[in-house]
Amino acid sequence: MLRRSWLTRNMLRITLGGESLREFPRNQQSAYIKLMFPRGKDERPLMRTYTIRHQRPEEIDVDFAMHAQQGPASAWASSAQPGDRILVAGPGGRKLISQEGDGYLLAGDMTALPALSVNLEELPEDAYGYAVIEVRHESDIQPLRHPENIELHWVISPKPDPRGLTLLEKLQSLPRLPGTPSVWAACEFSSMRAIRHFIRQRYDIPKSQFYVSSYWKIGQTEDGHKQTKQHDIKKNQGVWR
Ligand SMILES: Cc1cc2nc3c(=O)[nH]c(=O)nc-3n(C[C@H](O)[C@H](O)[C@H](O)COP(=O)(O)OP(=O)(O)OC[C@H]3O[C@@H](n4cnc5c(N)ncnc54)[C@H](O)[C@@H]3O)c2cc1C
Repeated sequence: MLRRSWLTRNMLRITLGGESLREFPRNQQSAYIKLMFPRGKDERPLMRTYTIRHQRPEEIDVDFAMHAQQGPASAWASSAQPGDRILVAGPGGRKLISQEGDGYLLAGDMTALPALSVNLEELPEDAYGYAVIEVRHESDIQPLRHPENIELHWVISPKPDPRGLTLLEKLQSLPRLPGTPSVWAACEFSSMRAIRHFIRQRYDIPKSQFYVSSYWKIGQTEDGHKQTKQHDIKKNQGVWR
């Protein structure tokens, strides 16, 4: 770990780097990595998933959305000091919004803000549509680089809503985009399900233009969430509209 800085009230940026990142593949911003937390001799390490927000030669920035019920990753980040070491696996694939659609619809909470920010930066200049972002506090709003005709809508929610309505209600309030937009959304599990249902009802979107994923779940550690997510994916296989 090289540096730490508070980006906003609840978002802590940790810069990882040094010699061990020399062999890391280039151009991986928005790809995910796994932070590994070793346990006992016969136990598999705990893994937590994070996003590469920026990448420079031998450095990556990882932005941690801090939360009250800390787990190994958020606890590590909150006390990490320059010189501390952490095991990193990856990177996994980049998840960029499809550019085949008529417009763009993006949504995410603070865990998805790093990936959503990269997506906004990489959209074509003439892109139009909406990006709806849920943050915990007004001071968590960040300046983001985005095409002029992508409207940003920030929604403040001090506590995640177990019904998952915060992002949904904002999305419902926006005028329908014409045609068949490309969709990218990542957030808490219940929120993801609510958004997925709404988008399927409002638009007729082909699978190739539709990325909607849960990044965490209220009341479950990442290990529990992973199982819930796999079960949900299985149940939804083949359902796109
Ligand atoms: C592809 C992908 C990319 C991700 N990228 C990022 C990223 O760049 N930045 C980031 O901050 N997160 C990111 N996440 C989400 C992150 O992996 C989870 O929030 C993870 O659970 C955090 O691990 P932990 O050890 O802090 O808590 P855990 O041990 O997993 O959980 C402990 C408790 O905290 C709760 N919790 C977990 N996350 C939150 C939260 N955000 N708000 C409120 N309560 C929470 C859990 O429900 C649980 O009760 C990503 C997830 C995925 C799947």
